[in-house]
Amino acid sequence: MELKNTKHYDDETLKRWIEDESLTDRLNNKADAIRREIYGNKVFVRGLIEFSNICKNDCYYCGIRKSNDKVERYRLSEEDILACADLGYKLGYRTFVLQGGEDGHFTDDMFVDIVKKIKNLHDDVAITLSLGERSYDSYKRLFEAGADRYLLRQETSDKDHYSKLHPETMSFERRRQALRDLKEIGFQVGGGFMVGSPYQRTEDIIKDLRFLEELEPAMIGIGPYMTQHDTPFRNFPNGSFEMTLRLVSILRILFPYALIPATTALGTINPLGRERGLQAGANVLMPNLSPTMVREKYSLYDNKICTGDEAAECRACLELRIKNAGYEIVTDRGDVITYDKNTRKYS
Ligand code: SAH
Repeated sequence: MELKNTKHYDDETLKRWIEDESLTDRLNNKADAIRREIYGNKVFVRGLIEFSNICKNDCYYCGIRKSNDKVERYRLSEEDILACADLGYKLGYRTFVLQGGEDGHFTDDMFVDIVKKIKNLHDDVAITLSLGERSYDSYKRLFEAGADRYLLRQETSDKDHYSKLHPETMSFERRRQALRDLKEIGFQVGGGFMVGSPYQRTEDIIKDLRFLEELEPAMIGIGPYMTQHDTPFRNFPNGSFEMTLRLVSILRILFPYALIPATTALGTINPLGRERGLQAGANVLMPNLSPTMVREKYSLYDNKICTGDEAAECRACLELRIKNAGYEIVTDRGDVITYDKNTRKYS
């Protein structure tokens, strides 16, 4: 099995795969076979620490957007974040994902400090950051401090569509450039998009796939768009579960080597969504490690799952679910298969 698929799929084919309901099972099976050849039945888990829901941006789809005055805002202290990582380590997590709104309180120095402290305590963990758009120099400092991966979904690869999802202050070009900067610096980079976001057309999704082909990210995260009742998009419906499953499979077919999560949004739209995601070609899960007290407040969309569970419960629950779906959790950093630990580079 080649790690990279060099075959070109034309727009017609992709369109059919994306739209045709009758193809879901076939695509899922094909993708699962590819994933098993490359990653076996292993599932990598990442402990997700949602460190702040304070954000300077105003994305129309997102529940923690600046203008939403209905959310109770919170910010974890450095101490809280380190305590989450510590608990996560004991539960067997070997990757921590720090994700939050674009909260100006957190300077480069603070993140550098947090990354170094976690790495000093445990030399066998990977750190993934998901802090939004920052300068090249900022990304570089974070990488040099030891951060390994960075998640930044492009959200959409069509400029007009981008401007329908975001206010004018946010730039389509800047987001794409940030992804290229991250890749150049050496991060294992994660792109991605929402499926069924307002105004999205099939051709926009095809553009996303083309953009990803060019970027060759290590990770690709997708989930259905989910309505949040306090956003300007409150009247738009959720994205399609089945289409998201087909897209997970399309991603596995196009990017056999990639780390692809079965996302929380997929688990929210359907009670067995994450299991179905794994069976459709995903190989990563990102359970929540945030303190239970703040979970509810990181409300990107309505009815988000697992907001009441303790981290240990989440872990036990997932272990069982994954086993039942036919896979196995491993305690491992779970780097992308093309990654070389010694040089910190991937091909
Ligand atoms: N500030 C960080 C993290 C954003 S939240 C950043 O800019 O990268 C992580 C992801 O959640 C976003 O990239 C977006 O794709 C997704 N998201 C936000 N609102 C959503 C919604 N209503 N439904 C589904 N996914 C959503």
